[in-house]
Amino acid sequence: LRFDDLNLDSRILAALGPAGYVVPSPIQALAIPPILDGRDVEALARTGTGKTAAFVLPVMHRLLSQEHSPDTRGGRARALILSPTRELANQTAGTARTCVRHCGLTVTVAIGGVPKDRQARALAAGTDILVATPGRLLDHLTDGTLNLDGTTCLVLDEADQMLDLGFLEDVRAIAARLPVRHQTLMFSATMSPAISALARQLLHKPVRIAP
Ligand code: AMP
Repeated sequence: LRFDDLNLDSRILAALGPAGYVVPSPIQALAIPPILDGRDVEALARTGTGKTAAFVLPVMHRLLSQEHSPDTRGGRARALILSPTRELANQTAGTARTCVRHCGLTVTVAIGGVPKDRQARALAAGTDILVATPGRLLDHLTDGTLNLDGTTCLVLDEADQMLDLGFLEDVRAIAARLPVRHQTLMFSATMSPAISALARQLLHKPVRIAP
């Protein structure tokens, strides 16, 4: 199996070869098809398995294929990736920026530890893919510098870390701000009763993947 076999937009494929991605990793081969189909996915995946591209690539594809009106983009993010830490958010945004190189989608980061006003200006222009940590994301929602009315996809990356760091209530509050109909993808390095409970709350008939 090669990336060419996964029905990804040719503008996405054009970025993969130069980035050294030729053969999908097991998590990518398993996760990309159901995500492209619009299913919710609960995946067991550690760092180093290629999990980031496993959600970034199909999310990009869906954004490229969905209609949206640019004039209603102010303060909006079309897809939201939640990361437990600033470091992971920056890494994920780096991967996403590599992958969007040929397709014109925008990637914005909203994390703590850097001034809010610059982030607010970037958000005001609207963004396709927003990578954020929960605390700063809630700040922007409270400030009114971001709204999730037009967000069609939510990714919870390293969900186990998210819970370990005490972000459960933040994650639930954020998920509640999305439109009723949206796709949710949950990636976690480990499974636990708490992760399963969160999945039951946030995921609708998920496809479960454990490579
Ligand atoms: P991740 O598990 O998302 O942190 O990715 C681990 C590393 O593998 C990153 O440096 C990626 O750029 C790289 N990577 C991910 N998928 C592939 C692939 N299909 N082929 C080659 N490298 C990849």
